[in-house]
Amino acid sequence: MSLAHDKQGNVLVPATGMINLAREIFNRAGCNPEEADTIATRLTGANLRGHDSHGVIRIPRYVAWIGEGRQVPNQTIDVVQDSGSIVILDGKFGFGQSIGEQAVDVGIERAKTHGVAVVGLRHAGHLGRIGDWSERAAAENIVSIHMVNVRGSLIVAPFGGVSKRMSTSPISAGIPVTGETPIILDMATSTVAEGKALVALKGGKALPGDAIIDGDGKLTSNPVPLYGDSATSTNPAAGDGDGALTTFGAHKGSGLNFLMEMMAGALTGSGCAGGVDEPEKRRFCNGMFSIYLDLKVFHSDDSFVAEVKNYVAFLKSSVPASGCDAVLIPGEKEQMVMADRQAHGLPMAVDAWNDIVATAAGQGIDQDALESLLSKA
Ligand code: NAD
Repeated sequence: MSLAHDKQGNVLVPATGMINLAREIFNRAGCNPEEADTIATRLTGANLRGHDSHGVIRIPRYVAWIGEGRQVPNQTIDVVQDSGSIVILDGKFGFGQSIGEQAVDVGIERAKTHGVAVVGLRHAGHLGRIGDWSERAAAENIVSIHMVNVRGSLIVAPFGGVSKRMSTSPISAGIPVTGETPIILDMATSTVAEGKALVALKGGKALPGDAIIDGDGKLTSNPVPLYGDSATSTNPAAGDGDGALTTFGAHKGSGLNFLMEMMAGALTGSGCAGGVDEPEKRRFCNGMFSIYLDLKVFHSDDSFVAEVKNYVAFLKSSVPASGCDAVLIPGEKEQMVMADRQAHGLPMAVDAWNDIVATAAGQGIDQDALESLLSKA
């Protein structure tokens, strides 16, 4: 099967074929069939929504992490503390895609019982696209907010500094709208997520001019200062260079990033990005502090949904600014991209695609098997 290319020269990979291939890679790398399917579906889902940074480009890195023992297949969460509406969970460095599902299901169940639930998740493997967790709660009519930090990931400079002291610490929130697509805010507190720098490094979409601060304190769109000598390897390591990602919105994004460290790192017990006098980086994991609210407790009728729809219509009636077609609400862009990619396939920079093919080969998937997985519906 020869894959089509788009006008920019990207390979166009069909979403179902991508899930088949990723599932096979993770199954061979040691994940049980259910977990392999969850990882494959969620990574491909990130690409479908336009978040290539948190999609299948992660496959080589995740497989390497299994080998290094950084991320452990087939884990189930441990309950560390349980007071009914407040639960602390330990993900034991398991794959974030399956640990995240398990943790969110605890939050949904507790919110349905108590009206409100707070779940602190420590030591999760990479939780991927955090909007997944808001979507999962919204599908059960639960409003949710998720604050995340990345322990051991020192790749972001605080506002006013050059040295790497922070992670990309994302925040996501989901607003269910009965009978319609939920509203999903989902963003890193860095100017761009690290994976977007990786996508740019691999020949994909270029970064904005203020995304990186190099070792001399100059702002640049060049991702190389972030990766240093590892920039040309199959598995570039952000943090190997003397540059850093910047926080978004100057001091305000830096402040929000700090809050993520307090809630997801310190309060959950997962640990902050780093600490003083620590010669070694802390073991990599995501911490996640989540709040779940059952809509039924706030409204016994449909007045919430009516007010949300009214406000969305009011917001979108804003006259578009020059260069913009329309005002979008959180999550709308992802829905637009998904419709297009479901129809035409996932665009992938050739370098990024070749790295996935090489990882598949490393797991014993030869060219014939690869083509058969890609073409299977
Ligand atoms: P981004 O800069 O694309 O921002 C995404 C948010 O902005 C979404 O809510 C989207 O709906 C909204 N948006 C996009 N275009 C818009 C427009 N024209 N008008 C109005 N709103 C618009 O995303 P990002 O900050 O680069 O984050 C990418 C992904 O990385 C997210 O899924 C995030 O969860 C993930 N992430 C994960 C980790 C982790 O450790 N697991 C760390 C950082 C980021």
